[in-house]
Amino acid sequence: MEIRNLTRRYGDLTVVDDVSLTVMPGQVTCLLGPSGCGKSTTLRMIAGVEMQDAGAIYTDGQLICDTVFRIPPERRHIGLMFQDFALFPHLTVAQNVAFGLSTGKAEQRARVEELLARVDMLRHIDDYPHGLSGGEQQRVALARALAPRPRVMLMDEPFSGLDNRLRDEIRDQTLAVLKAEDAAVLLVTHEPEEAMRMADEIALMRGGKIVQQGAPYNIYNAPRDRDAVAFFSDIN
Ligand code: ADP
Ligand code: MG
Repeated sequence: MEIRNLTRRYGDLTVVDDVSLTVMPGQVTCLLGPSGCGKSTTLRMIAGVEMQDAGAIYTDGQLICDTVFRIPPERRHIGLMFQDFALFPHLTVAQNVAFGLSTGKAEQRARVEELLARVDMLRHIDDYPHGLSGGEQQRVALARALAPRPRVMLMDEPFSGLDNRLRDEIRDQTLAVLKAEDAAVLLVTHEPEEAMRMADEIALMRGGKIVQQGAPYNIYNAPRDRDAVAFFSDIN
């Protein structure tokens, strides 16, 4: 996926300012920055639930949207995982994962089982969400998002609702599943530690702009300025 010169203003405030970014299949690109810097707004424009004021988005070289042309969200082949993007409580785990699938019954079942096995939730296939722990619900949400084989996965602070004890384990497992599915992943976080753990590429964002971009250890070892140093300093 390629984002070119994406810009979004609210009144006089430019919250996303000329952001360009490429996300490759099989890679996790992390949009990292403090709260309020424009990360979620960027994801919403890519998802198609918000319009940009300037710029364009392409997947596989095909235009998804610019300021005049716009493919609707449901036809963008994009998977979403947000912190508060809950499972459907009245559907079983299997029905939740199958929700976005339009293929035949047998094929659908095979895909659901494949993904639930990957996230280690096959034994809960006929359970309802309310009986599952937070971490288990998270794993089902991941399976559901990946079921239709999205070309791009957008994840907005997906682990922030989990308690610390679980978080690292779920991060590692999520990463393994994303790699196995070969998705192009754009992960938004305000936690440097999460970016260091999961990203192939980090784009450091501040005040609506990408201020530095590169491999995690390059950014960690050579932060561009004092603000970047300060931002990374709480990692041990
Ligand atoms: P992040 O996800 O990095 O925390 P957001 O993209 O949510 O940041 O927000 C970026 C900025 O845009 C913030 O200053 C926020 O207050 C502002 N903002 C977000 N949505 C709106 C809106 N609908 N109207 C006005 N300002 C908004
Ligand atoms: Mg946000």
